Amino acid sequence: MQSHPRMSFATLFLLTPCALFAQTSEQAALQLRESRVALSLALDYEEGSLRGLATFNILNVSDSPATEVPFNLNRLMTVQNVRDGQGAPVAFTQDVVTFSDSPRQQVTHVRVSLSVPLEPDSLTRLTLDYSGYLTGYTETGSRYIQDRIDEEFTILRADAYAFPVVGQTSWRANRAAPHIPFDFEVSVTLPERFTVASGGSLVERQVDDGLATYVYRSTAAAPFLNIPIAEYGLLKSDGIRVYYFPEDSAGAALLLDRAQRALALLTDWFGPLGQRPELAVMEIPDGWGSQASLAGGIIQTASAFRDLSQMRQLYHELTHLWNAPDTDLPSARWNEGLATYLERRIAAALDGWTGLDAYAERVAAYLVERLGETSDAAGVSFRRYGDAGLTDYSYSVGFLMFYLLGELLGDAAFDQAIGGYYQSHRETGGTFEDLIAQIDESSDSDLTRFFEEWVYTTTWLDQLRSGASVADLLERARL
Ligand SMILES: [Zn+2]
Repeated sequence: MQSHPRMSFATLFLLTPCALFAQTSEQAALQLRESRVALSLALDYEEGSLRGLATFNILNVSDSPATEVPFNLNRLMTVQNVRDGQGAPVAFTQDVVTFSDSPRQQVTHVRVSLSVPLEPDSLTRLTLDYSGYLTGYTETGSRYIQDRIDEEFTILRADAYAFPVVGQTSWRANRAAPHIPFDFEVSVTLPERFTVASGGSLVERQVDDGLATYVYRSTAAAPFLNIPIAEYGLLKSDGIRVYYFPEDSAGAALLLDRAQRALALLTDWFGPLGQRPELAVMEIPDGWGSQASLAGGIIQTASAFRDLSQMRQLYHELTHLWNAPDTDLPSARWNEGLATYLERRIAAALDGWTGLDAYAERVAAYLVERLGETSDAAGVSFRRYGDAGLTDYSYSVGFLMFYLLGELLGDAAFDQAIGGYYQSHRETGGTFEDLIAQIDESSDSDLTRFFEEWVYTTTWLDQLRSGASVADLLERARL
C-alpha cells in the first residue's frame, strides 16, 4: 500500500530550508537506509528513561561499498554495545555532536564500523544496545518535539531520536537522503495500566507481575514509526483501531463511525478490497504534531479528534486502501493526488462539506504562486515528479487533475474507471500509463489532449499563469 507522511499545502512551506540553513553543508546525503527496524524497549517512568535493543536491516542504496553506518540517537542516550547479525561485537564510536547546519540540534552520533564492506543493494544487520533519558528538541525550533517519558503521555518516535536513526549530522543531508518505507516490529514493556499504541497489527499483549509487554508488527512497509503511550481507551471495528484519551470518548466514537461509513462508501464506489483493512488512529495532546500513513498509523491531536472538519486525514488514508501497488520506480505518486481529491468527496458525502470548486481554485492559485517563472519545478511535468524529487507537488497538481477528470467524466464514470483500475491491477500493480489507459477506455470522450496537458507537459500551468481559472480549464477540456 502507498503510505506517506501527510503533507498539507500549508506545511509544504515549513519543509523549505529557512535562511539559517542557507549555507551549503559539506555532508553528502547518506545512501544507507533502514529496510527493517525491530525495537525491544522497557520504560522506566520514575527515572524518565528507557533501555533496549534496536535491530536494523541496513540497505546500501548507493553504487559503492559502505564501510560504516552512522546513526543519530537522543543526546541524553548512549549505546552500550553493537552486534552484527551473528551476534559478534562490532566496533563503534559515539560523541555528542552538533548538526553542521542546525546549531541548536545535538545528537549522540554513533558510527559503526563494518568489518566487511556493505556492497551496493546488499543488506547487513546491526543490533544496538542503548539506554538513557528521552528528552525533547523544542530548542531547535521544532516546538512539537516535547518528547519525554511521562505518565500523562509518552511518544517514542524518530523526531526525538527515541531510537537510533540512520543519518548524518546535517539537516540538509538527511532531508536529501532517499526515503524508503521500512518494516517494523516493536515490543514495549511498561506498567500494565498504560496502553502502547502503534500502526501495524497488535501481535500480542502479555502481562506478567504488573508489567505489560505489547508487540506490534507492520502489515506493510511504513514511512515512519510513532509509538504513543498513555492510559488510552481503545475502540475497534472493521480493522480500524482508535486509541483515545478517556475524556474524548465521544470524539473516538464519531471517528470510528466515520471510518466505517467511509469504508462503506469507498466499497460502493470502487468495489471490494483485496485485503482486510488495518489502520490505527492514535490521539496525542495538542501541540505535539500530527502525521498520517496507512501503514504507520495516524497520530492526531486532541482538538482534531473532536472536530468533524478534521476527518479528512482519516478519509485520505482510507482511500489509499484502494490503491493498486505502484510499479513506477521512482513513482510520480499520482495516488496522492487521487487521495487528496477523494478525501474531499468523502467529506462532501458524509459531512455535508461544500466548497470543492472553491478549493480547486485556491489550489490553482497556490500553484501559480509557488511555481513562479524562476522555479525549477515549474518546467517539470507531473510524470517526472518522481525522478525530479518533486512528489510534494503530486498532492496539489494531482488533486487538480483528478478534480477535473471527476468533473469531465461525472462521478459514476470516474468511480468506475478508478475502481476498474484497482480491481484489475491490485494483484499485479500498475503504472501511470496503465491508469491513463484504463481511464481512457472508460471514457466516451477523447482524453489524449487532457493527459498530454496534465501529465506529460506543464501546459496546465501555462494556462493558469495566463489568467485562466480552473473553471476555464474545465470549459476548455470539454471542447
Ligand atoms: Zn496519502
